[in-house]
Amino acid sequence: MATQEAVSVLPGVGPKRAQTLVELGIVTIEDLLSYYPFRYEDIQEKNLLEINDQEKVTLKGVIVSAPVVSRFGYKKSRLQFRMMQDHAVFMVSFFNQPYLKDKIEVGEELAVYGKWDAKRKSLTGMKILGGKQTEEYAPIYHVTKSIRQSTLVDLIKTAFDKFGEQVTENLPDYLLEKYRLMPRKQAMRAMHFPKNPQESQQAKRRVVFEEFFLFQMQMQGLKKNERSEKNGIAVRYDVERLKQFTQKLPFELTDAQKRVTNEICYDLRSKKHMQRLLQGDVGSGKTVVAAIALYAAMTAGFQGALMVPTEILAQQHLESLNQLFDSLELTTALLTGSTKTKERRAILAGLKNGEIDVIIGTHALIQDEVQFANLGLVITDEQHRFGVNQRKVLREKGLHPDVLFMTATPIPRTLAITAYGEMDVSIIDQMPAGRIPVKTSWIKPKQLEHTLDWAKQELQVGHQLYVICPLIEESEALDVKNATEIYEHLKEYYAPTYQVSLLHGKMKNTEKDAIMEEFKENQSQILVSTTVIEVGVNVPNATVMFIMDADRFGLAQLHQLRGRVGRGSAASYCILVASPKNEMGKERMKIMTETNNGFVLSEKDLELRGPGEVFGFRQSGLPQFLIADLVNDANVLEVARDEANQIWQVDNWQSQPAFAALAKALKPTETGETYFD
Ligand code: ADP
Ligand code: MG
Repeated sequence: MATQEAVSVLPGVGPKRAQTLVELGIVTIEDLLSYYPFRYEDIQEKNLLEINDQEKVTLKGVIVSAPVVSRFGYKKSRLQFRMMQDHAVFMVSFFNQPYLKDKIEVGEELAVYGKWDAKRKSLTGMKILGGKQTEEYAPIYHVTKSIRQSTLVDLIKTAFDKFGEQVTENLPDYLLEKYRLMPRKQAMRAMHFPKNPQESQQAKRRVVFEEFFLFQMQMQGLKKNERSEKNGIAVRYDVERLKQFTQKLPFELTDAQKRVTNEICYDLRSKKHMQRLLQGDVGSGKTVVAAIALYAAMTAGFQGALMVPTEILAQQHLESLNQLFDSLELTTALLTGSTKTKERRAILAGLKNGEIDVIIGTHALIQDEVQFANLGLVITDEQHRFGVNQRKVLREKGLHPDVLFMTATPIPRTLAITAYGEMDVSIIDQMPAGRIPVKTSWIKPKQLEHTLDWAKQELQVGHQLYVICPLIEESEALDVKNATEIYEHLKEYYAPTYQVSLLHGKMKNTEKDAIMEEFKENQSQILVSTTVIEVGVNVPNATVMFIMDADRFGLAQLHQLRGRVGRGSAASYCILVASPKNEMGKERMKIMTETNNGFVLSEKDLELRGPGEVFGFRQSGLPQFLIADLVNDANVLEVARDEANQIWQVDNWQSQPAFAALAKALKPTETGETYFD
């Protein structure tokens, strides 16, 4: 494909310009041609009186004075002329682009994009959108300081004239027909030089589909590869023993729990690598599902590991698992960074010789010196970040366990498909019976004293409460209420009847553990904490949670926090204390009071804040799409996914003529793992 040639084949592209283009991700002609505008400027005649000072606008008018270029200093110049719109005259200035003079002719119509200076009644021009023959609809590109819009457009024009004919289709014909998509060459032209808004819409539809579809093809190829049966472990568990185990549980599994357990067991049994995400709202009962899977592995003669992000959680999981495993012949152990040397040695030995069936711990679990006799299953809880590196570490030890990721962060479906496209997803979408939903209310800071008085009733009947403060930030400038201050205040407020304790992220682990223990044992009744308690902590006797400056948290995070209460049989309350400054903040507080459904909230979060901001996703390396939009084009994503899936069902599709161009269009990814970490 000639379009794979470097941009430097174009006239006017020397090493320096080429470097500038690299900064935009443009290396080849193909890259340049598919560097699409991110929006289109609708050129209207705006009334000068309506424009705000410093607003960026496109103004259309007639040129009424000849351009004058004044030069000052080396290489500096200003080009000025007057334009008239209706009967109002305004000045236009362009800096350091004297060559534009040739485009300015008195009496001609012109559209100029620039910044409006209301006082001077003058527009500082940034771009000329052409003269008389101007399209009403001009593309706007992302550019850097080192290249102008107009230069980029000129380059694209040149490239298109020279190489346009060589642009080839990469989607199979049947998809073009089925979805009435514009052919690639035509779409490319229309993206850059649309004749009208309709044409650019059609072009965009094609480009969005292409972007999602190629992405899905890549992802699913990766998935297929990951699941391949080589080195996979078939965990042939003992069905009878599993049944006995579930029958002895103190409760009956919900239908959702049964369903996901089956999905997991099916994966375990098959020789394919399990790569499964288990999503379930806080309190939906993921732990018991994990326990069943771990026990299954044990009955098949394999060891299992449960990895969690913090030591507190590790400890807690050990306790809940030990309770569940109480009646079984199964040996568990806990390994964290603070396990004492002697105990550590014993545990390492037990793992190596297979005496330990289930090991629970933090990342310390997969460190170099940890060796397993027969690791068959790894479960990670509450983290998105167990990825490439960890898998690599395991692989290098010759281990290929099945992997189950558990998360209580309800991820909107579109994001799950995208970010976790290479995983299978199981969802527990049902709460155990008998739960009383947490009642959430939103109060203003000035109502706090009053509400604290109310909370005394809860304390009087023996319940406990959490007070959550936003993390203490380094910067004083952020008006974050200091947890310590709140702690001091509450200590005074509740003295001498109730004990207040303070927990924050800067404390040592041993200190944190001691304070958590104190709260669990009801030696303190009020726990003031920064978000360190966010995940997993289980104190059923706590029935009230205050969240200070609640508008500083994302919806999903608030929801996570709220999940810490409502774990027992008593009614419980979550009180959001906030005075949000904008509508979005108010909206977020309101929706929290309206629903307890994590998936609804995460969809709302996505809608309000966009995919980059949804809790936990900023760091998780969600792929960036150039044109496609995860929120607005979600339905296209689903379609693209189904179509990609169908192609991957075909054995060796790459060798079929109909898919030749597609196979070529998929860039080779060695592992594709960049999507993961
Ligand atoms: P998650 O980890 O999903 O937030 P947990 O596994 O900690 O939730 O479960 C929350 C609580 O619900 C635990 O006390 C657990 O014993 C209980 N539980 C789990 N499944 C059921 C069920 N099917 N019926 C009743 N209670 C359940
Ligand atoms: Mg849990």
